Amino acid sequence: MAAQLLDGNVVAQGIKDAVAKEIEALKARGITPNLAAVQVGDNPESKMYIGMQKKNCESMGITYNLRPLPTDTAESGLIQYIEKLNEDKNVNGIILQMPLPQGINPRNIQRVISPRKDIEGVNPANMGMLFYGSQKIGPCTALSVMELLKSTGENLKGREAVVVGHSEIVGKPVAILLLQWLMDSPTVTVCHIATRDLELHVRRADILISAVGKPGLIKSEWIKEGSIIVLVGIKRMPDGTAHGDVDFEQASAKASWITPVKGGVGPVTTAILLRNTLEVTKRQLE
Ligand code: NAP
Repeated sequence: MAAQLLDGNVVAQGIKDAVAKEIEALKARGITPNLAAVQVGDNPESKMYIGMQKKNCESMGITYNLRPLPTDTAESGLIQYIEKLNEDKNVNGIILQMPLPQGINPRNIQRVISPRKDIEGVNPANMGMLFYGSQKIGPCTALSVMELLKSTGENLKGREAVVVGHSEIVGKPVAILLLQWLMDSPTVTVCHIATRDLELHVRRADILISAVGKPGLIKSEWIKEGSIIVLVGIKRMPDGTAHGDVDFEQASAKASWITPVKGGVGPVTTAILLRNTLEVTKRQLE
Protein backbone atom coordinates (compact mmCIF):
# COMPACT_ATOMS: atom_id res chain seq x y z
CA MET A 1 0.00 0.00 0.00
CA ALA A 2 1.42 3.38 -0.99
CA ALA A 3 -0.95 5.53 1.06
CA GLN A 4 -0.40 6.36 4.70
CA LEU A 5 -3.25 5.29 6.92
CA LEU A 6 -5.34 8.18 8.21
CA ASP A 7 -6.03 6.43 11.48
CA GLY A 8 -9.27 7.55 13.11
CA ASN A 9 -8.50 5.74 16.34
CA VAL A 10 -5.33 7.77 16.85
CA VAL A 11 -7.06 11.08 16.04
CA ALA A 12 -10.00 10.14 18.29
CA GLN A 13 -7.71 9.28 21.18
CA GLY A 14 -6.05 12.70 20.99
CA ILE A 15 -9.47 14.41 21.18
CA LYS A 16 -10.64 12.13 23.98
CA ASP A 17 -7.50 12.75 26.04
CA ALA A 18 -8.04 16.51 25.82
CA VAL A 19 -11.74 16.12 26.70
CA ALA A 20 -10.96 13.80 29.64
CA LYS A 21 -8.55 16.34 31.09
CA GLU A 22 -11.14 19.11 31.00
CA ILE A 23 -13.86 16.88 32.42
CA GLU A 24 -11.55 15.99 35.28
CA ALA A 25 -11.12 19.70 36.02
CA LEU A 26 -14.91 20.18 35.94
CA LYS A 27 -15.39 17.23 38.28
CA ALA A 28 -12.96 18.79 40.73
CA ARG A 29 -15.44 21.70 40.79
CA GLY A 30 -18.33 19.28 41.42
CA ILE A 31 -19.66 19.44 37.85
CA THR A 32 -20.50 16.31 35.84
CA PRO A 33 -21.70 16.84 32.26
CA ASN A 34 -25.08 15.23 31.78
CA LEU A 35 -26.34 14.09 28.39
CA ALA A 36 -30.00 13.28 27.66
CA ALA A 37 -30.44 10.86 24.75
CA VAL A 38 -33.97 10.98 23.39
CA GLN A 39 -35.13 7.85 21.59
CA VAL A 40 -38.59 7.57 20.08
CA GLY A 41 -39.57 3.94 19.45
CA ASP A 42 -37.08 1.10 19.47
CA ASN A 43 -35.29 1.07 16.13
CA PRO A 44 -32.71 -1.75 16.36
CA GLU A 45 -30.04 0.31 14.58
CA SER A 46 -30.28 3.20 17.00
CA LYS A 47 -30.09 0.66 19.87
CA MET A 48 -26.56 -0.20 18.72
CA TYR A 49 -25.54 3.49 18.55
CA ILE A 50 -27.06 4.15 21.97
CA GLY A 51 -24.97 1.34 23.47
CA MET A 52 -21.80 2.82 21.97
CA GLN A 53 -22.66 6.37 23.01
CA LYS A 54 -23.37 5.28 26.57
CA LYS A 55 -20.11 3.34 26.85
CA ASN A 56 -18.09 6.23 25.43
CA CYS A 57 -19.74 8.85 27.62
CA GLU A 58 -19.34 6.84 30.79
CA SER A 59 -15.69 6.07 30.06
CA MET A 60 -15.19 9.83 29.86
CA GLY A 61 -17.09 10.70 33.05
CA ILE A 62 -20.17 12.04 31.25
CA THR A 63 -23.53 10.93 32.64
CA TYR A 64 -25.63 9.38 29.85
CA ASN A 65 -29.38 9.33 30.43
CA LEU A 66 -31.47 7.45 27.92
CA ARG A 67 -34.96 8.94 27.61
CA PRO A 68 -37.08 6.36 25.74
CA LEU A 69 -40.43 7.51 24.39
CA PRO A 70 -43.15 5.32 22.86
CA THR A 71 -43.27 4.80 19.08
CA ASP A 72 -46.65 6.53 18.87
CA THR A 73 -45.32 9.78 20.39
CA ALA A 74 -46.77 12.69 18.39
CA GLU A 75 -44.50 15.41 17.01
CA SER A 76 -46.15 17.96 19.33
CA GLY A 77 -45.52 15.68 22.32
CA LEU A 78 -41.87 15.27 21.39
CA ILE A 79 -41.49 19.04 21.02
CA GLN A 80 -42.92 19.56 24.51
CA TYR A 81 -40.58 16.91 25.88
CA ILE A 82 -37.54 18.59 24.31
CA GLU A 83 -38.67 21.98 25.64
CA LYS A 84 -38.68 20.53 29.15
CA LEU A 85 -35.15 19.21 28.66
CA ASN A 86 -34.11 22.66 27.45
CA GLU A 87 -35.34 24.09 30.77
CA ASP A 88 -33.90 21.31 32.94
CA LYS A 89 -30.81 22.69 34.71
CA ASN A 90 -29.53 19.15 35.31
CA VAL A 91 -29.33 18.43 31.58
CA ASN A 92 -26.32 19.89 29.76
CA GLY A 93 -26.65 18.22 26.36
CA ILE A 94 -29.41 16.72 24.23
CA ILE A 95 -29.01 14.12 21.50
CA LEU A 96 -31.88 12.97 19.33
CA GLN A 97 -31.63 9.38 18.12
CA MET A 98 -32.39 8.76 14.46
CA PRO A 99 -34.39 7.55 12.70
CA LEU A 100 -37.55 9.07 14.12
CA PRO A 101 -40.86 7.28 13.47
CA GLN A 102 -42.78 8.33 10.37
CA GLY A 103 -44.90 11.39 10.99
CA ILE A 104 -42.20 13.24 12.90
CA ASN A 105 -40.20 15.69 10.83
CA PRO A 106 -36.63 15.75 12.24
CA ARG A 107 -36.19 19.41 11.27
CA ASN A 108 -39.14 20.43 13.44
CA ILE A 109 -37.45 18.79 16.40
CA GLN A 110 -33.88 19.88 15.67
CA ARG A 111 -34.90 23.51 15.65
CA VAL A 112 -36.48 23.13 19.10
CA ILE A 113 -33.35 21.73 20.75
CA SER A 114 -31.72 24.70 22.47
CA PRO A 115 -28.54 25.71 20.58
CA ARG A 116 -26.92 25.79 24.04
CA LYS A 117 -27.61 22.06 24.50
CA ASP A 118 -27.41 20.89 20.90
CA ILE A 119 -24.42 18.54 20.98
CA GLU A 120 -25.00 17.36 17.40
CA GLY A 121 -24.81 20.87 15.97
CA VAL A 122 -28.09 20.41 14.10
CA ASN A 123 -30.05 23.41 15.39
CA PRO A 124 -30.26 26.08 12.64
CA ALA A 125 -28.43 28.57 14.89
CA ASN A 126 -25.45 26.22 15.24
CA MET A 127 -25.60 25.34 11.54
CA GLY A 128 -25.59 29.07 10.77
CA MET A 129 -22.43 29.58 12.83
CA LEU A 130 -20.62 27.37 10.32
CA PHE A 131 -20.93 30.20 7.81
CA TYR A 132 -19.14 32.58 10.15
CA GLY A 133 -16.38 30.08 10.74
CA SER A 134 -16.67 30.70 14.46
CA GLN A 135 -18.48 27.53 15.41
CA LYS A 136 -17.34 25.46 18.34
CA ILE A 137 -20.26 23.08 18.09
CA GLY A 138 -21.03 21.56 14.72
CA PRO A 139 -22.28 18.40 13.02
CA CYS A 140 -20.03 15.69 14.46
CA THR A 141 -19.16 13.82 11.26
CA ALA A 142 -18.31 17.00 9.37
CA LEU A 143 -16.04 18.18 12.20
CA SER A 144 -14.49 14.75 12.31
CA VAL A 145 -13.54 15.01 8.62
CA MET A 146 -11.76 18.30 9.45
CA GLU A 147 -9.86 16.71 12.33
CA LEU A 148 -8.73 13.86 10.11
CA LEU A 149 -7.54 16.28 7.42
CA LYS A 150 -5.72 18.43 9.99
CA SER A 151 -3.97 15.36 11.37
CA THR A 152 -2.21 14.81 8.02
CA GLY A 153 -0.35 18.10 8.52
CA GLU A 154 -0.79 18.75 4.79
CA ASN A 155 -1.29 22.28 3.50
CA LEU A 156 -4.57 22.34 1.57
CA LYS A 157 -4.18 25.90 0.32
CA GLY A 158 -5.57 26.28 -3.20
CA ARG A 159 -5.76 22.53 -3.74
CA GLU A 160 -8.82 20.89 -5.28
CA ALA A 161 -11.20 19.42 -2.71
CA VAL A 162 -14.12 17.37 -4.01
CA VAL A 163 -16.97 16.44 -1.68
CA VAL A 164 -19.29 13.72 -2.97
CA GLY A 165 -22.71 13.85 -1.30
CA HIS A 166 -24.54 16.98 -0.14
CA SER A 167 -26.52 15.90 2.92
CA GLU A 168 -27.22 18.42 5.65
CA ILE A 169 -25.18 16.60 8.26
CA VAL A 170 -22.15 15.59 6.18
CA GLY A 171 -21.61 16.90 2.63
CA LYS A 172 -22.84 20.48 3.00
CA PRO A 173 -21.17 21.27 6.34
CA VAL A 174 -17.92 19.62 5.16
CA ALA A 175 -17.90 21.92 2.12
CA ILE A 176 -18.48 25.01 4.29
CA LEU A 177 -15.84 23.97 6.82
CA LEU A 178 -13.29 23.43 4.06
CA LEU A 179 -13.94 26.99 2.91
CA GLN A 180 -13.27 28.16 6.48
CA TRP A 181 -9.74 26.88 6.32
CA LEU A 182 -8.93 30.59 6.22
CA MET A 183 -5.88 31.36 4.13
CA ASP A 184 -5.22 27.67 3.63
CA SER A 185 -8.63 27.09 2.08
CA PRO A 186 -8.82 24.61 -0.80
CA THR A 187 -11.08 25.15 -3.81
CA VAL A 188 -14.22 23.18 -3.05
CA THR A 189 -16.49 21.30 -5.46
CA VAL A 190 -19.60 19.50 -4.24
CA CYS A 191 -20.97 16.58 -6.27
CA HIS A 192 -24.41 15.10 -5.80
CA ILE A 193 -27.01 12.86 -7.40
CA ALA A 194 -27.51 15.26 -10.34
CA THR A 195 -23.78 15.68 -11.06
CA ARG A 196 -23.35 14.84 -14.73
CA ASP A 197 -19.77 13.66 -14.77
CA LEU A 198 -18.61 12.44 -11.37
CA GLU A 199 -15.47 10.94 -12.87
CA LEU A 200 -14.33 14.33 -14.20
CA HIS A 201 -14.50 15.86 -10.72
CA VAL A 202 -12.98 12.93 -8.85
CA ARG A 203 -10.03 12.78 -11.26
CA ARG A 204 -9.16 16.40 -10.29
CA ALA A 205 -9.46 15.83 -6.55
CA ASP A 206 -6.37 16.44 -4.42
CA ILE A 207 -8.66 15.90 -1.46
CA LEU A 208 -11.61 13.54 -1.88
CA ILE A 209 -14.33 13.31 0.74
CA SER A 210 -16.82 10.68 -0.21
CA ALA A 211 -20.07 10.74 1.75
CA VAL A 212 -22.69 8.75 -0.13
CA GLY A 213 -22.84 5.14 1.10
CA LYS A 214 -22.81 3.38 -2.30
CA PRO A 215 -19.90 0.95 -2.61
CA GLY A 216 -18.33 1.06 -6.06
CA LEU A 217 -19.70 4.53 -6.85
CA ILE A 218 -16.17 5.89 -7.22
CA LYS A 219 -13.84 3.81 -9.39
CA SER A 220 -10.30 3.44 -8.13
CA GLU A 221 -8.92 4.35 -11.58
CA TRP A 222 -10.42 7.85 -11.11
CA ILE A 223 -8.34 8.48 -7.98
CA LYS A 224 -5.66 11.11 -8.45
CA GLU A 225 -2.10 10.07 -7.65
CA GLY A 226 -1.09 11.41 -4.21
CA SER A 227 -4.59 12.49 -3.17
CA ILE A 228 -5.98 12.51 0.37
CA ILE A 229 -9.11 10.39 0.75
CA VAL A 230 -11.60 10.52 3.59
CA LEU A 231 -14.15 7.73 3.28
CA VAL A 232 -17.30 8.75 5.10
CA GLY A 233 -19.79 6.78 3.03
CA ILE A 234 -19.82 3.21 4.20
CA LYS A 235 -22.34 0.45 3.66
CA ARG A 236 -22.66 -2.49 5.99
CA MET A 237 -23.41 -5.74 4.17
CA PRO A 238 -25.58 -8.61 5.46
CA ASP A 239 -22.41 -10.74 5.82
CA GLY A 240 -21.06 -8.27 8.40
CA THR A 241 -18.47 -6.67 6.10
CA ALA A 242 -18.45 -2.94 5.42
CA HIS A 243 -17.47 -1.24 2.16
CA GLY A 244 -16.71 2.36 1.28
CA ASP A 245 -17.82 4.38 -1.78
CA VAL A 246 -14.38 3.63 -3.21
CA ASP A 247 -12.50 0.35 -2.82
CA PHE A 248 -10.02 0.89 0.02
CA GLU A 249 -7.27 -1.48 -1.18
CA GLN A 250 -7.24 -0.21 -4.76
CA ALA A 251 -7.49 3.46 -3.81
CA SER A 252 -4.64 2.98 -1.31
CA ALA A 253 -2.28 2.19 -4.18
CA LYS A 254 -2.73 5.72 -5.55
CA ALA A 255 -3.61 7.98 -2.61
CA SER A 256 -1.08 9.54 -0.24
CA TRP A 257 -3.46 9.32 2.75
CA ILE A 258 -6.65 7.31 3.20
CA THR A 259 -9.00 6.51 6.06
CA PRO A 260 -9.75 2.82 6.68
CA VAL A 261 -13.35 1.65 6.33
CA LYS A 262 -13.39 0.67 9.99
CA GLY A 263 -11.46 2.88 12.41
CA GLY A 264 -11.60 5.95 10.15
CA VAL A 265 -14.32 8.58 10.44
CA GLY A 266 -16.46 6.61 12.95
CA PRO A 267 -14.29 6.85 16.09
CA VAL A 268 -13.50 10.53 15.45
CA THR A 269 -17.23 11.30 15.11
CA THR A 270 -17.80 9.71 18.52
CA ALA A 271 -14.94 11.72 20.03
CA ILE A 272 -16.42 14.95 18.61
CA LEU A 273 -19.75 14.08 20.21
CA LEU A 274 -17.96 13.94 23.57
CA ARG A 275 -16.12 17.19 22.83
CA ASN A 276 -19.39 18.90 21.90
CA THR A 277 -20.90 17.70 25.19
CA LEU A 278 -18.00 19.21 27.10
CA GLU A 279 -18.28 22.42 25.06
CA VAL A 280 -21.99 22.97 25.79
CA THR A 281 -21.40 22.26 29.48
CA LYS A 282 -18.61 24.84 29.62
CA ARG A 283 -20.78 27.41 27.82
CA GLN A 284 -23.56 26.92 30.33
CA LEU A 285 -21.11 27.71 33.12
CA GLU A 286 -20.01 30.97 31.50
P1 NAP B 1 -27.59 10.72 3.05
O1 NAP B 1 -28.39 11.74 3.77
O2 NAP B 1 -28.26 9.53 2.45
O3 NAP B 1 -26.78 11.48 1.92
C1 NAP B 1 -26.17 10.81 0.86
C2 NAP B 1 -25.79 11.87 -0.15
O4 NAP B 1 -25.24 11.25 -1.30
C3 NAP B 1 -26.98 12.68 -0.63
O5 NAP B 1 -26.61 14.04 -0.64
C4 NAP B 1 -27.23 12.17 -2.05
O6 NAP B 1 -27.73 13.15 -2.90
C5 NAP B 1 -25.83 11.80 -2.47
N1 NAP B 1 -25.81 10.84 -3.55
C6 NAP B 1 -26.60 9.75 -3.71
N2 NAP B 1 -26.28 9.10 -4.85
C7 NAP B 1 -25.26 9.80 -5.41
C8 NAP B 1 -24.53 9.64 -6.59
N3 NAP B 1 -24.76 8.62 -7.43
N4 NAP B 1 -23.56 10.53 -6.88
C9 NAP B 1 -23.31 11.57 -6.05
N5 NAP B 1 -23.99 11.77 -4.90
C10 NAP B 1 -24.97 10.89 -4.59
O7 NAP B 1 -26.47 10.14 3.98
P2 NAP B 1 -25.54 10.86 5.10
O8 NAP B 1 -26.22 10.84 6.40
O9 NAP B 1 -24.97 12.11 4.56
O10 NAP B 1 -24.38 9.78 5.14
C11 NAP B 1 -23.61 9.50 4.01
C12 NAP B 1 -22.77 8.25 4.25
O11 NAP B 1 -21.88 8.51 5.31
C13 NAP B 1 -23.57 7.01 4.64
O12 NAP B 1 -22.93 5.88 4.09
C14 NAP B 1 -23.44 6.96 6.15
O13 NAP B 1 -23.50 5.64 6.64
C15 NAP B 1 -22.05 7.52 6.33
N6 NAP B 1 -21.88 8.17 7.63
C16 NAP B 1 -20.87 7.76 8.41
C17 NAP B 1 -20.68 8.35 9.64
C18 NAP B 1 -19.57 7.90 10.54
O14 NAP B 1 -19.41 8.46 11.63
N7 NAP B 1 -18.77 6.94 10.14
C19 NAP B 1 -21.53 9.36 10.08
C20 NAP B 1 -22.54 9.81 9.23
C21 NAP B 1 -22.70 9.20 8.00
P3 NAP B 1 -29.33 13.42 -3.02
O15 NAP B 1 -29.77 13.86 -1.66
O16 NAP B 1 -29.41 14.49 -4.04
O17 NAP B 1 -29.92 12.10 -3.42
